[in-house]
Amino acid sequence: METTVVCTICNTSYALEPKVCSKCEYPFSASEKDKSTFVGQLFRKKLIIEETKDKIKRAQKILWVIGGINVLYFLVLLSLNPTLNVNVLDLLLGLVFIGFGFYASKKPFRAISISLTLLLSLYFFSALAIR
Ligand SMILES: [Zn+2]
Repeated sequence: METTVVCTICNTSYALEPKVCSKCEYPFSASEKDKSTFVGQLFRKKLIIEETKDKIKRAQKILWVIGGINVLYFLVLLSLNPTLNVNVLDLLLGLVFIGFGFYASKKPFRAISISLTLLLSLYFFSALAIR
């Protein structure tokens, strides 16, 4: 059985020790100082990724709250006066925001920027309508 070298970071096995891990770029042949610098940077990157994931989750919750408020608003109006010509746009908007909340976990930047644009243009047009 051959002796293999295993990357301490990503557990990739090599028959011979490479200079750099092909998967995670761990510098096998570098000095101990450079190796610890690499590990430190990797740790920092992971922290940034975790923080970004938290921010995306927060944005997702905000989108769900906005969507939920719109749906609730529609339902309350409907229950108060079923014959009233209720604004179906509130329901649609609520559902769109809830949908963008789910979409934010796949394409966060796109989901958040589109829904923000939608919200701002809605405020803009409703301000125009009030005048
Ligand atoms: Zn590796």
